[in-house]
Amino acid sequence: MSKTLHPETLAIRGFKEQTEYNEHNQALFLTSSFMWPTAADAAALFSGQKSGYTYSRTANPTTATFAKRVAMLEGGEHAVATGTGMSAIQAALLTFLSAGDHLICSRSLFGTTINLIDNHIKRFGIEVSYVSQTDLAEWRAAVKPNTKMLFLETPSNPLNEVADLEALAQIAHDAGALLTVDNTFLTPLLQKPLALGADISLHSATKAIDGQGRVQGGVVVGNAELMKQVQMYMNAGGLSMAPFHAWVLLGGLETLSPRIERQCANADKVAAWLRGQPQVLNVYHAGFGDHPQADLVKKQQTAGGIVVAFEVDGGQDVAWKVIDSVEIFSRTANLGDARSTITHPWTTTHGKMSAEAKEAAGIRPGLIRLSIGLEHADDLIEDLKQALA
Ligand SMILES: *Cc1c(COP(=O)(O)O)cnc(C)c1O
Repeated sequence: MSKTLHPETLAIRGFKEQTEYNEHNQALFLTSSFMWPTAADAAALFSGQKSGYTYSRTANPTTATFAKRVAMLEGGEHAVATGTGMSAIQAALLTFLSAGDHLICSRSLFGTTINLIDNHIKRFGIEVSYVSQTDLAEWRAAVKPNTKMLFLETPSNPLNEVADLEALAQIAHDAGALLTVDNTFLTPLLQKPLALGADISLHSATKAIDGQGRVQGGVVVGNAELMKQVQMYMNAGGLSMAPFHAWVLLGGLETLSPRIERQCANADKVAAWLRGQPQVLNVYHAGFGDHPQADLVKKQQTAGGIVVAFEVDGGQDVAWKVIDSVEIFSRTANLGDARSTITHPWTTTHGKMSAEAKEAAGIRPGLIRLSIGLEHADDLIEDLKQALA
């Protein structure tokens, strides 16, 4: 039946590990190992003749429930839960890349992902090329005989530039490579990369899936064959998600749909208001009908998302003044939270990049990033109004 159910229902009813006690909520299995009745049962479990739980690093019922529900929402055959978003990215990269392989990435990746790739992945003899988020010719030109993966996020952080996933899947598959998409910004409810041809979709569950800034988590989704390999790397590398975090994140999944819907509507309102302000030079939001890639947004996303970036006239001094003057927005880097947040990309998320690299990526000193939450949109607008004044 699950194939015919809507995502709103799957997020709540998609899967549950039920015990004999008939508990209504998914039980929290806070145990590091599982017992077997006999030595023969243990042998059958370890050899794979029988399926079941042995040890929580390998698999745990609460964590498995979380992973299964995300797989259903993404339309993937299987998912592997990990301790953080970064461990999901590490698993996706190191399961499939070896010394001598070549990886092509968008230049507009999350800062810590670039740190992982440049300071660690490259140490293992994996070649990396960075290309434009939106220029397909650059992706095509970067392909080499040893290219094994294309990796990106869409829309980009914080400028909301959209990459054409179907076209990139074609480029990847023509080269015999995998297309991996970090789908954190939109969640499985607003964008389904696998349906557009991607091989792997992954998330930082720390963001909108939790949605209340409580725990960290990550998840990698794809077909059974690929996920079997990710599961083996996750287990060997010890990247597992804690059962308690899975239990919290299941609560997050169950309310994700109404939260994300309201947050997107709020973001559309805040973005539209910002556009009319004399102190604001540019506003970047994928929900604008006149977004430079509006057709692609419409094809890939069911809403514009919760991130709004805007550039104030007056550079860093004015941007900092606005950030220090807000009374409702939290000055913190988390996004997707019920609480709206405000950050200065130039000196925080993109602070480690050179000034030239930032300018080339469109990150200017006057740019401010907002993640819009569940407060009333009018209150958020009033807060920005007094801060801009
Ligand atoms: C936060 C984030 C990550 C990293 O996730 P953690 O849970 O903090 O490890 C990766 N990608 C994107 C797009 C993010 O926003």
